[in-house]
Amino acid sequence: MDILLDTAPCGYFSISSAGIIQSANGTLLNMLGYERDELLGRHLETTMSVTNKLFFHTYFYPYIQLHGHVNEMYVSFRTIAGQDVPVLLNGVRQQRGGETFIDCVVLAMRKRIEHEKDVLQSKAKLEELYQKTNEANQKLELLHAEYEVKQQELLRINHQLEAMAWTDTLTGLGNRRYFQEKLLASLASYREEGLPFSLFIIDIDHFKKINDTYGHPVGDLVLTNLARLLQSMSRENDIVARYGGEEFVAVLPDTDQEAGLSIADRYCATTASTLLGEYQITISIGVATATSGDTEQSLLNQADQALYASKSGGRNRATHAANLVRS
Ligand code: GH3
Ligand code: MG
Ligand code: MG
Repeated sequence: MDILLDTAPCGYFSISSAGIIQSANGTLLNMLGYERDELLGRHLETTMSVTNKLFFHTYFYPYIQLHGHVNEMYVSFRTIAGQDVPVLLNGVRQQRGGETFIDCVVLAMRKRIEHEKDVLQSKAKLEELYQKTNEANQKLELLHAEYEVKQQELLRINHQLEAMAWTDTLTGLGNRRYFQEKLLASLASYREEGLPFSLFIIDIDHFKKINDTYGHPVGDLVLTNLARLLQSMSRENDIVARYGGEEFVAVLPDTDQEAGLSIADRYCATTASTLLGEYQITISIGVATATSGDTEQSLLNQADQALYASKSGGRNRATHAANLVRS
């Protein structure tokens, strides 16, 4: 055999059409661990595992019969010591001296297969990581959704708490704190834009008697019903609140002294003629209308003095503070 072919950097062998090895180069002998005279004359399939033999039968021979060549076929040889050597094989059918030969070259593929194994392992690891990341993301999304729900709940509770802080629990009207805020805001508007407003302090006449006669729960019912009545008598922008005990307050925007007194008179008359549940009550009102220089306290004092005058004047009536000063 030509020395170049004998030592070529790939295995070479030639088989007869019956599969008997006719020649083999030194590289192939080294690859499989045979001496030349051990390999020549053998059937090629004696250097293969059973699976590879089958593969050879069903693929290699039919293909080469049909096409005259085989390219890049993956197959495994078995060394004399019984180890598998994966190779890449190219074969071609040739005619020499009236006989058919199949000449083949083979390249050992161990490194490439190791490399493929590495790639497969890396791919499996990547898939595992991807799966874990996916799971973590799903958990995160769940946690985020829970957080959103709790956040909404917290906002709702805060809203409730805030509303409670401004609301009188018995009557549902605004409470004293709410009224004070509104009074300050009305005073600010009056100072800045000259928008007039009036203030009422409304006190139930002889309310103690209702409690004493019918009991405290009935007193509560009367307070609630009066709150509803006052609310129904007020205009959209008026503010009615419970000042404390059996006292209510109202801030009436865009209401001067004359209008204020006339509305207060109407409140008294309507209350006196309306049954609150089964109970008849009257109210007394002190009215004050903002003038320049008024403060929250001065307005409250004026309304209070006017209320006192309504009480001492016989109750079930309204008095404007401005009329007190004159008299
Ligand atoms: P006047 O005509 O002088 O205002 O007499 P009055 O009896 O209404 O006034 P007084 O200040 O003597 O009594 C007020 C009563 O209101 C006493 C108190 O027990 C009652 N009261 C205060 N807050 C409440 C409440 O929330 N519920 C009930 N049922 N009674 C209350
Ligand atoms: Mg009172
Ligand atoms: Mg009273």
